[in-house]
Amino acid sequence: MTPVRTRFAPSPTGYLHVGGIRTALFAYLLAKQNNGQFVLRLEDTDKKREVEGAGQHIMDSLRALGLEYNEGPDIGGPYAPYLQSERLPRYKEWAQKLIDSGRAYADPYTAAEVQAFREAAQKAKKPFLYRNHRPENPPEWDGSTPLRFKSDPKAYQWEDAVMGSLHAGAEAIDDFILMKSDGYPTYNFAHICDDADMKITHVIRGQEFIASTPNFLNLYEALELERPILATMPHILGPDGNKKLSKRDGAKDVLDYIRDGYLPAALVNFIASMGWNDGTEQEIFTIGELIDKFSLGKVQRAGARFDERRLLWMNGAFIRALSLDELFALCNDYWPPEAADYSQDYRRAVLALVQERLKYLAELPELTSFFFTDLPINPELINGHKQLKKLSTQELRNLLEQAQATLEASEFTVEDLQARLNDLLEKSGQKPAVLFSLVRIATTQAPSSPGLAESLAVLGKEVALRRIHAQLSSL
Ligand code: GLU
Repeated sequence: MTPVRTRFAPSPTGYLHVGGIRTALFAYLLAKQNNGQFVLRLEDTDKKREVEGAGQHIMDSLRALGLEYNEGPDIGGPYAPYLQSERLPRYKEWAQKLIDSGRAYADPYTAAEVQAFREAAQKAKKPFLYRNHRPENPPEWDGSTPLRFKSDPKAYQWEDAVMGSLHAGAEAIDDFILMKSDGYPTYNFAHICDDADMKITHVIRGQEFIASTPNFLNLYEALELERPILATMPHILGPDGNKKLSKRDGAKDVLDYIRDGYLPAALVNFIASMGWNDGTEQEIFTIGELIDKFSLGKVQRAGARFDERRLLWMNGAFIRALSLDELFALCNDYWPPEAADYSQDYRRAVLALVQERLKYLAELPELTSFFFTDLPINPELINGHKQLKKLSTQELRNLLEQAQATLEASEFTVEDLQARLNDLLEKSGQKPAVLFSLVRIATTQAPSSPGLAESLAVLGKEVALRRIHAQLSSL
């Protein structure tokens, strides 16, 4: 049996947004599942579109997600090099093979001449096909002009592992360019040569390549190559489900998400869920489960929706599933600066309180800074509070003074605080939404916090009383 070999073959033309990496993930999963190899090949033959540093960025992104490739530009492998611009002699050999068998010819036309053909076709309301203008006696190809494929137009029916049975008529076939006059091959040519040289068994890629697939099939035949299994991924749509995902939809760079404290495992789970599920209701999968359960046959054909809120939810679920020790180890770079003055035990106690609500690590300062620093009194928290804003200053004062006395008497364990605050609730005849909100606001100055007794127990008596006092003075 031939070993499964899949590849991710991005062009280094920009950053990789979370959707862009889905084909990489599926190729990775398929390779792992079959004890095969996952190959990274950088397709850098369009020098005009290349973006400096993009190749490195792609490699960093794959590693950050744990999608380690077995062969690639920076680690080599049995079919190196894996950077197309370093494989030019090899494309020349493949081109020569086609020239020798009469299946490639030098394109003698200037751009203006081709444009004239195009316009004539338009006038005649016919599709423009280059092959209708094949030169009778093409010059010998010396690399100064494009080299074109001499196609063999015919209809095709083929199987796509995701899209099912596809077909196209002969009109989809044309004499496309193999080698450009700048010495670089086209994508259409280079990927076929490389997939063959690198013994790729499964070609997983985006929907934008379906229209050209009949041409690829034609070229496989001309080169007498066995064609790999083709699998076409549906588009990733924006959150509204209408159009193709773009940066404006909030699809950030993978590394930006990592920097914000999204867990690689959650990102991988989220990316897999765009267009794939295992046919059950399960939504959270570990990478091991994904490797076990993934199949091309279960990739849906319709466009998949990118929903950042779902990613946020998923990341929260992965954070909740961590042990406190695991989470604590990940948080080093995310604490608010003031936390540096506090002990590990204190920070762990704070983290234990917010783990339940933490959606991504960079949210940590927003959720925890009041544990480390006295935030300035924010009158809006009372003035904007549905119930508290109805109380007079005197009433607020009274309640705060009673709370002060209650806290003063407490030993500041969660149970004791809880019991005393409940007593006070009864005595004051107030609703929890009034009394507890007021104490919470006074002692945190934050719009939200973990449970009141739990938060107070961590803050300690001195800090809590100091803050109540400050609130009282401000009234
Ligand atoms: N270089 C192509 C791209 O980035 C890859 C397509 C393929 O996987 O064959 O779109």
